[in-house]
Amino acid sequence: ATGISVAEIRKQFPILHQEVNGKPLIYFDNAATSQTPQSVIDALVHYYQRDNANIHRGIHTLAERATTAFEATRKAAQGFINAREVEEIVFTKGTSEGINLVAQAYGRKLISEGDEIIITGMEHHSNIVPWQMLCQQTGAKLKVIPVAENGEIKLEDFEALLTEKTRFVSVVYISNSLGTVNPVEEIISKAHAVGAKVLIDAAQAAPHHPLDVQKLDCDFLALSGHKMYGPTGVGVLYGKREVLEAMDPYQGGGEMIRDVSFDGTTYNDIPYKFEAGTPNIADVVAFKAAIEFVEGIGYDFLHQHEMTLLERGKEKLYGIDGFQPIGTAENKASVISFLVDGVHPFDLGMWLDAKGIAVRTGHHCTQPLMDHFNIDGTVRASFAVYNTVEEIDTFAEALTEIVKKFRK
Ligand code: PMP
Repeated sequence: ATGISVAEIRKQFPILHQEVNGKPLIYFDNAATSQTPQSVIDALVHYYQRDNANIHRGIHTLAERATTAFEATRKAAQGFINAREVEEIVFTKGTSEGINLVAQAYGRKLISEGDEIIITGMEHHSNIVPWQMLCQQTGAKLKVIPVAENGEIKLEDFEALLTEKTRFVSVVYISNSLGTVNPVEEIISKAHAVGAKVLIDAAQAAPHHPLDVQKLDCDFLALSGHKMYGPTGVGVLYGKREVLEAMDPYQGGGEMIRDVSFDGTTYNDIPYKFEAGTPNIADVVAFKAAIEFVEGIGYDFLHQHEMTLLERGKEKLYGIDGFQPIGTAENKASVISFLVDGVHPFDLGMWLDAKGIAVRTGHHCTQPLMDHFNIDGTVRASFAVYNTVEEIDTFAEALTEIVKKFRK
């Protein structure tokens, strides 16, 4: 949309308008979790003040209202990722649960000994461990696409790993640690050519990049609400209808059944087959406001603004004495991961916090990637739509001062 200003956007985020350690908060930990606009907070409050009831079973008015609001988010999520059918949207508590669901409900049934699963060397632990668990359970083999020095993967390295035994490929769209944007369209089509299914971890892509599951033609896609200005505890797992239908349930319980008797149980249709128990109704309801927030701004503005921030960050930071960027891919989201020679990342994080600047330090749940670079962790500054060029300048000044004082 036109006429959007960052100043107006900032006004919608009450949390940003506070001092931390006596300084105006600068929140650069968006890749861990983003902040929520007032519309999302209002939706949560409204739900608890007026509509709170359990969904799908009740005939009373509140139960109907809660169900309608819950299912309205499913419809919004369908539109958000352009799924063909609303039944292809499964609610989870986040990306991790989405991947675990697929590894268990698809993998336990359809992957067996000797089959191969491919991931990349830059995956979040939540796209590594569920596959390691599946491999232990089934005797399947996990193969890893290597990461180059600049934090990219090469398609020819992926092709070299593909065989007729490849059953599943699970890759991150945008790396949370480095910001690298992976060539997922090519990965999906090459994987399909050998008959493998593909899951896209879109946790970091959702706030930065338009998602179109029909165009991508992925079999699964997982995302988290809290990375895209929504509440914690809600995520979306997309699966193609025929793939979801072929799968076993993930967990057993209420909602996911059609008929239960001690002689045997039949299961509900998708997506309910995968939604055992009372879901996180309130956060799902409020997540719709987050989808509307992102759609209201639009990816043109989001992308353009975040690229402005990234370029400013590179310009101001890369010249700092001893500054070492980690991950310098050509195609990169608004994440700057770095080390400074002679200053420990944890110390940098602490001293920045003393100046009101929130960054993340450590391995960012990507220990194998850190091992690949032979480091324990980095400092990561990750930018969102409400961040400003002025904040980056303040950050660069603060970092310069800290480095001058503490660099040995
Ligand atoms: N994948 C990536 C790329 C992520 O950044 C994250 C969250 N840091 C996850 C998966 C896991 O998401 P969640 O913790 O919301 O389940």
